[in-house]
Amino acid sequence: MSNASAKGTSDETIAALKALLPPLAQGRVLSLKLADGVVTLVLDGSGFDQIERERLEAAAKDAMRAAPGVSDVRVGIMADKDVPAPGPRIVAVGSGKGGVGKSTLSANLAVALARSGRKVGLVDADIYGPSQSRLLATEGIRPQAEGSKMFPVASPWGIGMLSMGQLIEPGQAIAWRGPMAGNALSQLIDAHWGDTELLVVDLPPGTGDVQLTMLQRFKPAGAVVVSTPQDLALMDATRALQLFDTGGVPVIGLVENMAGYACPHCGEVSDPFGAGGVEAAAAAMGHAFLGRVPLDLTIRQDSDAGRPPAASDGPQGEAFAAIARRVATWLDNQS
Ligand code: ADP
Repeated sequence: MSNASAKGTSDETIAALKALLPPLAQGRVLSLKLADGVVTLVLDGSGFDQIERERLEAAAKDAMRAAPGVSDVRVGIMADKDVPAPGPRIVAVGSGKGGVGKSTLSANLAVALARSGRKVGLVDADIYGPSQSRLLATEGIRPQAEGSKMFPVASPWGIGMLSMGQLIEPGQAIAWRGPMAGNALSQLIDAHWGDTELLVVDLPPGTGDVQLTMLQRFKPAGAVVVSTPQDLALMDATRALQLFDTGGVPVIGLVENMAGYACPHCGEVSDPFGAGGVEAAAAAMGHAFLGRVPLDLTIRQDSDAGRPPAASDGPQGEAFAAIARRVATWLDNQS
């Protein structure tokens, strides 16, 4: 804008600059100024998620930089004006290592919370072995999308769900580098969750890139860490706990899985590997103990068949329901 002067840029110059913006940004201009070759642009980011805001900002910057006479561009995106419904609160479920029952607990925690009357969704962020489609009987269902925003798939067990497994072709190994995995997680969480109140996120085991993205971009309201009673598993779980502590995410509590063996004939629970280790470790670390789920053949069989035990009454369902009640009480006490 060669005719722009430092003082009092003309209305025509401002209108000409505005016309150069991408159409999406034009309707969102809150203020646009040009002084000494510097464009200062404030845009309304209402209803946009973080990724959409970054895109809006980048597109507006590029367009302004290309305008004649413009040497620098500053873009600010205002916080939502008409405060959209706040997103769901996130409950992250983590573990130190794989195979301890983190996915089983996530699915059943979500189903039990939904049975108690809450609007619950589940995000399967386990890039190494996404299993929630099987656990929640949504295998083969592709989520619909509007632009880059996905709609959750409805599980017959009363919750919406999205999974890393739905972003890739079945059977394709996931060897994603960190940023790709982080962006995939963002896509699952920044989806059309509607009036979902609680999002249970099944994290990959350990403390990698997905966990970091989770803590940095979407701070969970709280975290649940699951472990088996053995010492080694517990040591791994401690690392997961440290990650949440470092990220400032409150630990809701620990769950002991495969704590004892439930006899398939009489239901009596014995403790071949010992039990109570997680409860003792939780107490030693000053964390709450949320409950214990025995090693029970029906849990594995029903889970494999896409029937979460928490969906029915009975001892298995009750073990998960008890954990869900403690999580719900914790969440209610926070709000
Ligand atoms: P993770 O997510 O930690 O890798 P999973 O939830 O996938 O672990 O569980 C690993 C395997 O153990 C699955 O086959 C699952 O059905 C089984 N499993 C998990 N918890 C129990 C339990 N309490 N009793 C019996 N089998 C279980």
